[in-house]
Amino acid sequence: MLLEHCFFYFQLFTFAFMRFSDVIGQDAIKKQLISMFHRGRLSHALLFLGKEGSGALPLALAFAQYINCETHRQTKHQSASLTLFETSPVVNPQPPEDSCGQCPSCIKAAKSVHPDIHYSYPTVTRKAGEKPVATDFIVEWRSFVQQYPYGNLFDWIESIKEKENSQGKITAEECNDIVRKLSLKSYESEYKILILWMPEELDKEGNKLLKIIEEPPPKTVFILVAENEERILPTLVSRCQMIRIPALTAKEVEEALVSRNHTEPAVAARVAAVCEGNYRAALQMVQHAEEDWQALLRDWLNAILKKGPAAQNAWIEQVNALGREKQKQLLRYFNHLLHQAILLYAGSSGKDKEIQIPATQHMLDSEKDFAERINRFSDPAQQQAILQELDNAIYYLERNANAKMLFHALTIKIYHIIKNKVVFLSE
Ligand SMILES: [Zn+2]
Repeated sequence: MLLEHCFFYFQLFTFAFMRFSDVIGQDAIKKQLISMFHRGRLSHALLFLGKEGSGALPLALAFAQYINCETHRQTKHQSASLTLFETSPVVNPQPPEDSCGQCPSCIKAAKSVHPDIHYSYPTVTRKAGEKPVATDFIVEWRSFVQQYPYGNLFDWIESIKEKENSQGKITAEECNDIVRKLSLKSYESEYKILILWMPEELDKEGNKLLKIIEEPPPKTVFILVAENEERILPTLVSRCQMIRIPALTAKEVEEALVSRNHTEPAVAARVAAVCEGNYRAALQMVQHAEEDWQALLRDWLNAILKKGPAAQNAWIEQVNALGREKQKQLLRYFNHLLHQAILLYAGSSGKDKEIQIPATQHMLDSEKDFAERINRFSDPAQQQAILQELDNAIYYLERNANAKMLFHALTIKIYHIIKNKVVFLSE
């Protein structure tokens, strides 16, 4: 269990989610959603696609609350009740920029107890033969979205699993349950909304949803919230209106760390520069800001390039003891330094003067020095190959891969990439 970071997130979000103002940055998307909703340009099936830490789930929650907020429903009804020949008492009513946060509908939405807002998400099997549906985990879900709104699938599964190596799945039974729930009339609001988080974890059984997504009951909105388009059933993607959620900017992350997490401004700036717009990663980096990742990376690269197997084994033992979160941070930090190396290389070779300026401006001296060293033993093509391996490694770490085996394999792959032997990129 992630007690340590449960507590950590709990400190951040003690208020009830979720208005648009509770979502970090993403102003353009918020405006776009509001405008689409008020101009009737909204498809009944939306796919919010955003990488980890971009806030796709908090945006979906805020949007669901917005759609059903009673205050603006009144605004909408007032204007709808006017006929063409009446003069509008309200000149050009601007749609509200946010849900009110206070009406009964908002209060229920914020606590995830609104009868017309449904949630679907991957679940784990706790007993053999059991066929879980999302509702079985609704209590855990409510606390997850309040405490870890920027959390990922790994965080969620960690918080509900009882056995090691549990895999999150959206089951066929859950798909049947979605169809059943959406066939009911809405209870109190105009719209029935279903937020389906991580449709990547739906296999063929997702096809059970096609019909209801294509011909939904009236006033039904599906919001699929995903990170990786390639892992979603194409039949689902093609039926949805895609809303691409960009990564946060460094400035947005920096401000959020300071205002929401009370991070020291200097640490916030440093972390914001390296987290690649991923607020989840940023929170974890802050938590371990004191770690000396550079020293650990230096030891690894020395073991790979100079010292050989005994030093590599000792290093792998050391990293194995760190635990999964820190292992991922280390890999992310390496990833960041490789990006810096690539930017420096592009700048110094004069190919792209545009890149050189931002790269060197935001680079800490110690990182610049490290990136220059990386450029001495590898070229950008090799760095890209290593980046690919790091991304894969992070992906498998999140899915409970054995860390020791993973770092062994990674050590060998990096050795081969740098020594320029034949490289097989893993799938
Ligand atoms: Zn409201």
